[in-house]
Parts: sequence; structure tokens; C-alpha cells
Amino acid sequence: MRKVAVIGAGQMGSGIAQVVAQSGTDVLLADVDIALAEKAKAKIAKSLGRLVEKEKIVAADAEAALSRITPITDYAAMTDADLIVEAATEREEIKARIFEAAGKVLAPQAILASNTSSIPITRMAAGTPDPARFVGVHFFNPVPVMKLVEIIPGLATSAATVSAVRTFAEGLGKEVVVSQDEPGFIVNRILVPMLNEACFVLGNGTASIADIDKGVKLGLNHPMGPLELADFIGLDTCLEIVRVLYNTTGDSKYRPAPLLMKYVEAGWLGRKAGRGFYDYSGETPVPTR
Ligand code: NAD
Repeated sequence: MRKVAVIGAGQMGSGIAQVVAQSGTDVLLADVDIALAEKAKAKIAKSLGRLVEKEKIVAADAEAALSRITPITDYAAMTDADLIVEAATEREEIKARIFEAAGKVLAPQAILASNTSSIPITRMAAGTPDPARFVGVHFFNPVPVMKLVEIIPGLATSAATVSAVRTFAEGLGKEVVVSQDEPGFIVNRILVPMLNEACFVLGNGTASIADIDKGVKLGLNHPMGPLELADFIGLDTCLEIVRVLYNTTGDSKYRPAPLLMKYVEAGWLGRKAGRGFYDYSGETPVPTR
């Protein structure tokens, strides 16, 4: 790939832009507002700076990677992109509008991909100009650290598209797994019901935030507790994934925990909002219950 466009410059989009730029490819980084895309580039500069401090990369490579990233808002710049990766907010109507706009500038051989955590690929592909060139490419958070990429072909995705995005992901140093287009794919189908259940356990008054996270970390040997991880992912994203699991399967075991809904309604979206199950305003996160 010579040029990749990333739409949505939040936690995931900025991480994807960083690793693509580090691999030597030019990146267009788009958001609704140029200030958001520029803020994401500044965040990437900090992230690359930390890698230089840790002597994982040299300063010249960090500078070169940063210079490959161009913040934009106008999709017209994407006409010569080989791949457009959508990494915007996990809401189907937002993504549908993006695919409509991106479809108009998509080059004849280019691929349109979504980093969705859960929204069915086949359904989104139906609203794109060529479903054979539409695919799920699901990175994990934080993108520069996490090794995995799930590839999710939709019903109409061509083998050539799957092969091209596999080569792309492997070129970023990632390991690939392929999932059928089933609710939650592989990892979130297993993970998100557990995070939702942790919200039920907290809401039921079974235990405190600290004890739920400590219990799972030490009892299951997980590196992060479920509430800490939910905050890290973003509680809005977690809730949207649970809703997709619930709505697409119709199985009541996936009903969202009331407490998770309340936190999202309050705007307590987790680490990115400065508050979720933990308060992130100080040096170390403090449980809020
Ligand atoms: P985020 O809230 O950090 O960022 C979302 C970004 O999308 C924001 O900057 C927002 O301004 C932007 N956006 C919204 N509407 C837009 C539009 N119309 N055009 C361009 N940009 C728009 O969310 P995130 O955690 O980065 O998640 C993004 C996507 O990645 C979601 O689909 C999510 O499910 C998926 N994902 C998230 C994680 C995670 O752990 N957070 C992991 C894997 C995949």
C-alpha cells in the first residue's frame, strides 16, 4: 500500500495511523473537525516520542513517521488511497454516512475497511459501491502494542480483498485471525459479555470496583480487571457492542447491564473522558464506588 486513509482520529484511528506511518506508508487522518485530526497527530507525536525515550525506535524514524501523517477533513484527498480504514464512533448510522461519502472517492481498485468492533460487515458492505472490496479489519487497543488483527470477510468480500488486507496487517507486524461475520466476531463475542457481566456484578452490589478487578486479575490471571478494561475500551463502545450482540442474536443473555447504560448516559465514558468506573484526574486512577 502506498497511501492509506484513516477516518476517525480517536483512540483507534490515531493508533492505526501511527503503525501505518511507522511501516513507511503515507497516511491521511480524517475526523469531523480538523482540530480533532490535528490533536490526534499531536498525540501520535507523543507516542512516538515515548518509543524514542525507551530506545525502541530512533528519533529520525519517529520524525519520518510523523511527517507521513496528514490531518484532513475533506474526503477528496482520498481519491488515490489504496485503502480507506473507517475507525469512527461505534454507531452504525455514523459509519453508514462515512461509507456513503468514502464510496464516492474510492479509487477503482481500492479497498474500504471497517475497524468496527461488532457491527455486521455484510450489512455495512451493502451500502458501499463494491461489497467485494469491503472487509472488516479489527485492530486492538492500543494499536501500537497489541499484536492481533481480526479480518472479517462479509458475504460478498472477495478473496483478493482478504488477501490484500492480510498482507497489509502482516506488513504492520501484526498476527492475523480470520472470523466469519458473526456477532462480535471472535474476541469481542467472548470478552464483551464478561465486561457486561462485571457491570451487573457491580450494579447488584456484589462487590466494589476494586475487588471485582482484583478478583479477576488474581483469580483468572488477567492483566487488567474487567471494569478497568471497559474504561480503557470506552464505556460507549462497550455498550454499543453489547447492543449489537443483543439485537443481532435476539438472545437475552446479552442484554446490557443497567449500570453500564447509566454511566454512558452520564457521559462517564471511561479513560478517554477522564472518568468511568475510575476517576483519572489524579496521578493514579481511583475507583468511584
Ligand atoms: P473514540 O471515541 O476514541 O474515537 C472515535 C472518533 O471518531 C472520534 O474522534 C470522533 O470525532 C470520530 N468521528 C465520529 N464521527 C465521525 C465522522 N462522521 N467522520 C469522521 N470521524 C468521526 O473511539 P475508538 O475507541 O477509537 O473507536 C473507534 C472504532 O474502533 C469503533 O468502531 C470501535 O468499536 C472500534 N474499536 C475500538 C476499540 C477500543 O478498545 N476502543 C478496539 C477495537 C476497535
